[in-house]
Amino acid sequence: MNDIIIGIDLGTTNSEVAIVENGNVSVISDAGKKILPSFVGVDDNNEILVGETARNQQLIYPERTIKSIKRLMGQNSHVVMAGQHYSPQEISAIILKRLKAIAEAHVGQAISKAVITVPAYFSDAQRQATREAGEIAGLDVVRMINEPTAAALVYGAGQDDAKRMLVYDLGGGTFDVSVVNVQSGVVEVLSSHGDNHLGGDDFDQLIVDHIRDHLRQQPGIEIDEHSKAMARITRAAEQAKRLLSDEPYVQIEEEYLLDHQGAPIHLSLELARSTYEDMIADHINATMDATHIALKGARMTASDIDEIILVGGSTRTPCIRQRLFDEFGFEPHGEVDPDLCVAMGAAMQAAMINGQNIGTVLVDVTPYTYGTSAIGYLDGQPYPYQYVPIIHKNSVLPTRKSEAFMTHQDSQREVKVRIFQGEDPDALNNIEIGEFLIEDLLDVPAGNIITLTLDLDLNGILHVSAREKASGKEKAITINNAISRFETEALSTAKQRIGDLFGENDDAAAEESAAAIAARQLIKKAESWLDNVSAEDKEDMVDLIEAITDGLERGDDAGLREAVERLNDILYYLES
Ligand code: AMP
Repeated sequence: MNDIIIGIDLGTTNSEVAIVENGNVSVISDAGKKILPSFVGVDDNNEILVGETARNQQLIYPERTIKSIKRLMGQNSHVVMAGQHYSPQEISAIILKRLKAIAEAHVGQAISKAVITVPAYFSDAQRQATREAGEIAGLDVVRMINEPTAAALVYGAGQDDAKRMLVYDLGGGTFDVSVVNVQSGVVEVLSSHGDNHLGGDDFDQLIVDHIRDHLRQQPGIEIDEHSKAMARITRAAEQAKRLLSDEPYVQIEEEYLLDHQGAPIHLSLELARSTYEDMIADHINATMDATHIALKGARMTASDIDEIILVGGSTRTPCIRQRLFDEFGFEPHGEVDPDLCVAMGAAMQAAMINGQNIGTVLVDVTPYTYGTSAIGYLDGQPYPYQYVPIIHKNSVLPTRKSEAFMTHQDSQREVKVRIFQGEDPDALNNIEIGEFLIEDLLDVPAGNIITLTLDLDLNGILHVSAREKASGKEKAITINNAISRFETEALSTAKQRIGDLFGENDDAAAEESAAAIAARQLIKKAESWLDNVSAEDKEDMVDLIEAITDGLERGDDAGLREAVERLNDILYYLES
């Protein structure tokens, strides 16, 4: 057997290691975590720390901690950690060594080969430095691939049709946008642009500044002088930012933050998503400008792009998705975890080099957008039924999203909530799937905030709740068939499209219905599990495989659908 080759995403903020096993791509976790923060430090006992522990001490012991070493790769410089000098290659090697050890612990054998990803804009010197870091870590870097190439491999490798993709990658410290051409597993980067100093860390900093301004309202408090309090605020800011990706408001609470003139100072501050979005607007605009420069570099316009792929944890910020939708006119893809996508692509490249078969990256996504209607605008004119999407098409299931709305009349005591499925900006052109009334609201002026939460699970059950923010009064309904029979097929198609990596799309298969292709795909996947499940599960699975095969042969759509659903459930349970 060939040596194992691991795939590594050596990132500025975070790093990951992935592997292809039994045809499946997986990112390897260490103590339950798949993401290793790219921090290296030295502790009180002169022991080397890598990852989370190093990150935790960074604000308190910056002189003993190194972050974002990737920015220095290829430069003839050094960093000082606990009084010792290190080259950027050496610090990167410490991270690589940890990733190698994580992979070795997982497979139970020594590993000496890796595919490592680098930004498309990396110069020869930066690539050479990355290779050297690998060598220092005891890894033969069998290939270095560009990060957008890796991401595009995950999304488009199995498709024969040529596709032009825009890879929008916003991480913790860097932004990269690339236009790539993908055909039959070959990815070509046509152009790249970006900003080496723009990312989620900047967003955190804006929230930290906001908190600092808030605390300064109490005279004499200069939070910067308290490093432990600053460390707590920085962490709270990042956590608040993440929550705002799913909620319209977040409450930032830090008790006993510091002592001021003998009295404890507590932090309690509400931050609205809209306020946060205003804070980061300039940064998002900068990414859009860079996107247009990348398009220009590839001699294209937005209409030439077939798909947008979201990479990097910061792309979970909803207004980014929205801006891309506004610019390109279609929903970007983010089905594969944007933090893990590049490492998965690296592992897939490694498997290709090794001649291994790659199965599917199965994800459950919603093929439709769900939202509500509100008073707004349509084609620039005031309109009472503007569609407001809440859960977007291609969101990974299960998913839970909230949005805030306001009453528009004084003393408005009730609100009718209507839930729609579809993409049309006019809610009335979408399919209404439920409605309810929330009554006995407070007798207050217009602007009373109602938070609407949509929670869609894997079985297509949609829980909807509306909550009056000021009183906590809530009304909820459950819509059982939010992804109905027909849509389940579309779900399989979406799954299959993403899952059909390196699949052999021969002509006969191409003529089959999407549901049949998905069913065959599912059988393959189930078969790869058969040796690794309990006897009971195995028996159920074999029966279901037979039922599906039978359904396919006899054209029995109902029987097929039921068996597919049940087998999907078992696989979901096995994989989670
Ligand atoms: P990466 O370097 O790709 O791992 O991205 C890390 C960045 O993504 C950090 O700045 C995180 O704070 C940010 N991030 C992770 N999850 C979320 C989220 N749910 N919403 C907004 N930003 C996030």
